Amino acid sequence: MPESSYAMLAVDDALRLVLTHAPRLTPTRLPLRALSGRVLAEEIVSTEAIPPFAAAAKDGYAVLAADGPGWRRLAGEQLAGYVSNVQVTSGSVVRITTGSPLPPGADAVVMVEQTQERDGLVEIQTAVSPLADVRPVGMDLAVGQRVLTAGQRLGPAEIGLLASLGHEAALVFPAPRVAVLSTGDELREPGDPLGPGQIRDSNRFSLMAAVQEAGGEPLDLGVARDRPGELEARVREGLQAADTLVTSGGVSMGQLDLLKPLLAMQGAVHFGRVNMKPGKPLTFATLAGKPVFALPGFPVSSLVAFELFVRPALLQMQGRADLTRPEVTVRLAHLVHHDPQRWEFVRAVVRRVGDDLVAATTGSQSSGRLLSMVGANALLRLPPGAGEMPPGAAATALWLGNDFLH
Ligand code: AMP
Ligand code: MG
Repeated sequence: MPESSYAMLAVDDALRLVLTHAPRLTPTRLPLRALSGRVLAEEIVSTEAIPPFAAAAKDGYAVLAADGPGWRRLAGEQLAGYVSNVQVTSGSVVRITTGSPLPPGADAVVMVEQTQERDGLVEIQTAVSPLADVRPVGMDLAVGQRVLTAGQRLGPAEIGLLASLGHEAALVFPAPRVAVLSTGDELREPGDPLGPGQIRDSNRFSLMAAVQEAGGEPLDLGVARDRPGELEARVREGLQAADTLVTSGGVSMGQLDLLKPLLAMQGAVHFGRVNMKPGKPLTFATLAGKPVFALPGFPVSSLVAFELFVRPALLQMQGRADLTRPEVTVRLAHLVHHDPQRWEFVRAVVRRVGDDLVAATTGSQSSGRLLSMVGANALLRLPPGAGEMPPGAAATALWLGNDFLH
């Protein structure tokens, strides 16, 4: 059997090489609406106090605390959003709504539930201390406070904070644009009828979804036929438009597996084989400084290779610090056969049983069987060895983390 001329790399070494060649993208300023999930590339210090004025925390009456309970004259009304020309003096109160500026003279708010109002008079039914139900200036945020740091991932709270401080945009690492190309003469679009020997392109759609799930922006490059000129044109097109390129198919040992020689001619191939199953022919190159992932064609191989290599690269490019999935130790629910020579990544469903995490595999692990990935919440990472593990054996699982363990 002819052997590939590419050295077989260990999974960890291959990942290290990928990360060396997938640097962070240049930060860019994006508007609030485009910030969800992005990583901040600057420090944010508050230049305003929140609240900016002493504000009522309840609907009720602004009072002078020292007046205590009793009947008072209603001197006027203060609503949120402007400053009315009213004042609280001893013996009078002002009707006030939540978020309104406290009128001059008042030092506390009595909530409406502890009052009654009749004929221009208000009965205050409780004693309050000064500042009761008042949010003083800067109570939630003081001027000069460091509120967000570079490297922090922006979610709803962080974005709200930016808005509340008057930022319309922030400097962040952008979403990597990822061109996705399928290769193969046999591939048809999902909506097209199949001729003899043809199958539907599924990789492009699963990989574009995986790109999105990893925070990237997929660019659809379509399907390239197995012709050197066509492949070369698509690869060039992809790299012009995107930060990185992901292809599938055309990296095994067939005579129309044209990707490796093309990438070697156009750039530098860093590895062309990885000691893993599925996904052994995974190929990684850089062309004009941009990372190119030539994933194997089988649908499961391409997705597992994406998970182990492309996803960490995309996370690093967008400034994320945690690049790999959390690992958990699981117990096998049944006998598991695995590859004695290569690290095998077995799709599994992990459930909590008492204090244990128990993993059942998803059935046949054939690399063409996408059903083996459907519903999987973990990848068991099984080392080479005896080739089978008994029920109850401990194994390491990469937690894919879509659903909480239950
Ligand atoms: P290859 O490495 O190009 O020989 O592809 C390996 C296997 O994966 C073959 O059975 C291909 O038909 C299949 N394959 C390649 N690309 C795709 C794709 N985009 N969608 C579904 N199957 C594919
Ligand atoms: Mg092919």
